This record gives sequence, C-alpha cells and structure tokens, in this order.
Amino acid sequence: MSSQGMAAEKRLTLADRLSTIQFDVDTQPFITVDTNTCKTCEKKPCLYVCPATVYTLENSELVYNPEGCMEMGVCQIVCHSIGKSAIKWNYPRGGKGVSFKYG
Ligand code: SF4
Repeated sequence: MSSQGMAAEKRLTLADRLSTIQFDVDTQPFITVDTNTCKTCEKKPCLYVCPATVYTLENSELVYNPEGCMEMGVCQIVCHSIGKSAIKWNYPRGGKGVSFKYG
C-alpha cells in the first residue's frame, strides 16, 4: 500500500472497533454460575478478566449478565484455576451470540 493510501486509511479507535461487534442474544443460558459458591471465593478473578464486564458485585455479592459476552471463555479458565469452579460456560447455540465484523 502506498504511503498516500495509508494516510487515507482511517485509524479506528478501540471504541470504533467495539461498536462493530453485534450480538444475537441466546435466550437459553450459556453461562451459569453457582453464586453460593462465589461467596467462598476470596480472589474473584472473574471480576478482572472479562472485557465485557459480565461479572460485577452488587452489595458484595457476585452477579452476572451474559449479554455482551465476547465468548473468550477466560472467565471459566480463571474461575476453575484461581477461583472456586463456580462457572459453567459454553458457546451460545448456533447462530446466536457475538459476531465480529472484519475489514
Ligand atoms: S472466580 Fe468463579 S467462584 Fe470466584 S467469584 Fe468468580 S465466578 Fe465465583
């Protein structure tokens, strides 16, 4: 690509890139969390790894909202390796969930 072409190319910010992500929410739960187990989890690493902020604290108790999940699965990995294995995570059913637009 020529330097003129590169100059004309629009630089996308992170917000621009995130705005291209689309979701078709699966009404069947694809993430379930045993929140009673979470009460015994001191580190709560799920709060720190999810870029979509699926996991939050309300009145010191873990709550979760799978809408906006980018399907990385890292929450389950940290929960099972550092937390208390409370998360059960699967991909949403076919055609549901996140879709990324490239290009
Ligand atoms: S890491 Fe797992 S067990 Fe700990 S608070 Fe999060 S979901 Fe619950």
